[in-house]
Amino acid sequence: MQWRLTKSESSSRNPWTTRFAPSPTGFLHRGHVASALCVFGIARALDAEVLLRIEDHDRGRARKAFEDAIDTDLAWLGLVAARRARQSDHPERYAAALDALDASRLLYGCDCSRKRLAQGLQGELASELRYDGQCRERGLDWRDPTVGVRVRLEAELVSFDDAILGPQTQSPATECGDPLLRDRHGNFTYQLCVVVDDHLERVGLVVRGADLTASTGRQILLARLLGRTEPPAFAHHPLLVDLEGKKLGKRFFSAAVAQERAAGVAPEKILGEVLHHLGLAATAAPLSTDAALAAVAAARRS
Ligand code: GLU
Repeated sequence: MQWRLTKSESSSRNPWTTRFAPSPTGFLHRGHVASALCVFGIARALDAEVLLRIEDHDRGRARKAFEDAIDTDLAWLGLVAARRARQSDHPERYAAALDALDASRLLYGCDCSRKRLAQGLQGELASELRYDGQCRERGLDWRDPTVGVRVRLEAELVSFDDAILGPQTQSPATECGDPLLRDRHGNFTYQLCVVVDDHLERVGLVVRGADLTASTGRQILLARLLGRTEPPAFAHHPLLVDLEGKKLGKRFFSAAVAQERAAGVAPEKILGEVLHHLGLAATAAPLSTDAALAAVAAARRS
């Protein structure tokens, strides 16, 4: 993995703020450690401030015990953010964002079920549900708490220069349809919260896993509709892979950091292995936090 941020981006966004944004719906695993290392390592190279954002917008699934474990695990790994924010502390900012979009007549109520949207789709495809616009012209009142809320997206292409993946072009309206901003249970969705927070918390650089690349175009459009004139820069890091051709199995990637910590595994062992599987260390030998972050910082290309 290599990353690159152009000089003009670096000067217009100085000082940088970036963020690590886990959801407290489970324990951190090695995929999260990979993200955290990329966030803190790139931040080190840019002299950026790191914000830890607890993404607990899904009230049905978020648990305080997982939030506490995130703090403990990160401290144990030596990855301590300068600031901390939690989405459930300020629901009013998401409600205000809906009001602002409503003032531009961009919202509509939607009572479609996931089941209907997933009909005919299987596996991978079903997890990224494209909305077909069925409720667009039905006139359902989006303020009715029993219906979901969607925002109308114009059909347009969105381009961004990903600091790791290079130039990307997406067509959110055709690829995902109108995004859901509040679900039928009253939860503000990830897509809304992340855009509002990155804007209000002045995040200039988003570093996260490549599984979220497809969300970026719609987040740039939504940010624009909410008045953000300059979107953040994006860096989507590769997901962990097995570099030796050996089968590591799901357990390797999904083992909870908290569990390994309790079992007496050293943090250096986890850091070294994760860095190796990100392609940033020749071997999986144990590494200090400092050495791991230095390796990510050094993967910068001019
Ligand atoms: N909360 C998301 C997750 O845990 C990450 C969101 C993001 O980085 O944009 O997968």
